Amino acid sequence: MGMETLGVLKLKGLYKRSAKFYNCLMSIIKSKIRTIQDWPKPGIMFRDITSLLIDPEGLALTIGTFVARYQNAGITKVAGIEARGFITGAAVAFQLNVGFVPVRKKGKLPGETISEEYALEYGTDMVEIHKDAITPNDNVLIMDDLIATGGTLGAAIKLVRKLGGKVHEAAMIIDLPDLGGSKKITSEFGVNVYSICEFEGH
Ligand code: AMP
Repeated sequence: MGMETLGVLKLKGLYKRSAKFYNCLMSIIKSKIRTIQDWPKPGIMFRDITSLLIDPEGLALTIGTFVARYQNAGITKVAGIEARGFITGAAVAFQLNVGFVPVRKKGKLPGETISEEYALEYGTDMVEIHKDAITPNDNVLIMDDLIATGGTLGAAIKLVRKLGGKVHEAAMIIDLPDLGGSKKITSEFGVNVYSICEFEGH
């Protein structure tokens, strides 16, 4: 299925109208994500989206699903979290005709930045955003490939809010609900986390 077909489906409102059709698309997308066991360390089931991105139908369905959801939401910027959130975030921003903002790991952005620390399993990490990337009237969609504990997303939400932006929603390809990240984000920040599919475990 190419972008043209997706455009027709969007026009007809099929994404919204038919739950059966929607579930079918979601299971096609899920089936194209491969799992690499014990990577990067023993016990982790790494949900690898490169197998989805390399597939033209998988890529079009994924981006088309996000675009269909947000095309009338008044989004003014898409903020993508390094690194895989850059891929989907930039494609969705292009289709929504809005700008893209990178949320990067510490020390990568050349301009004036603000930072936010978040907890990892062992220790902490930091994400940054350019100070002038978000303005108080922005309605921001935050994107990443996957939500696990929600630590990274929580820090990204704080950054957007520090600059006065409103977070419309967070959009992921994958949720790992057993880790409780999406529920935590909703209760702690009042931000809904939309995900195309879920995987058990971590
Ligand atoms: P968290 O901050 O715990 O929600 O972790 C989310 C970040 O870690 C995302 O940027 C993911 O790309 C990555 N991540 C965490 N767990 C996995 C996993 N099982 N498979 C693939 N990526 C993961």
